[in-house]
Amino acid sequence: MPNKGDVVLEAKNVTKKFGGLVANNDMSLQVHAGEILALIGPNGAGKSTMFNQLSGVDTPTSGEVIFKGEKINGQYSRKIAQQGMSRTFQHVKILAEMTVLENVAIGGHLRGHQGVFSSLLRLDRVEENILLNEAKLQLERVGLGEYLYAEAGSLALGQQRILEIARALCSDPCVLLLDEPAAGLRLKEKEALAALLLKLKAEGMAILLVEHDMDFVMNLVDRIVVMEFGQKIAEGLPEEIQKNEAVLEAYLGGAA
Ligand code: ADP
Ligand code: MG
Repeated sequence: MPNKGDVVLEAKNVTKKFGGLVANNDMSLQVHAGEILALIGPNGAGKSTMFNQLSGVDTPTSGEVIFKGEKINGQYSRKIAQQGMSRTFQHVKILAEMTVLENVAIGGHLRGHQGVFSSLLRLDRVEENILLNEAKLQLERVGLGEYLYAEAGSLALGQQRILEIARALCSDPCVLLLDEPAAGLRLKEKEALAALLLKLKAEGMAILLVEHDMDFVMNLVDRIVVMEFGQKIAEGLPEEIQKNEAVLEAYLGGAA
């Protein structure tokens, strides 16, 4: 585990082109251990593309992504996950009729590209027990310990999001990438999510989130990187970003 303040994940001059479209233009940013960094910007700014470059889902056209001191562009996502990077998806992916525990255990195993059922069938009893134990530990860590045997589909959306975080924690990551974790949540659910992220941060986790919900971001994160038209237009503390002219213009300019 990196020490608090260490740079865990870094983009250096990352450019990503889709044909003639420059979705990320010379983007640089750093995520530190024990820090929550938000990546924000109007629709189409290039946030998801950046997220994909950082998580190894996609490979930059030029520039580098450095994870724990090692260049990861072009590496397999499975290998990156094994080294301690974990992510959640914008849309919750759960098997509604299975238990919360099974969902986390299977998700923990799924990090490759296998289908759910083939992965279940391939497990022997010993492996299965290891996964179930790890899943139970992580569910307790995120505060879902009383729901282990509930049907996942019976959980409220906020709890399902937290289930996804438990799943992401099963690989013992040092960096967590979250794509719009607060989307669609009620106020109380956002508060519970924020409390969990603060707890993980206090444990030394590096957290990067892409998020639309400004109240959620401003009250939670340590630093913000703002994108518009594929570029970084501002970076700083929440209170600085709230007053930043370029940021205000980007948001008032219509695209959002
Ligand atoms: P955001 O997440 O900030 O809304 P995106 O990263 O999704 O922005 O998109 C940035 C730009 O890149 C948009 O113009 C989008 O249409 C384009 N884009 C994203 N992914 C692809 C792709 N796979 N192929 C072509 N264009 C893409
Ligand atoms: Mg997006």
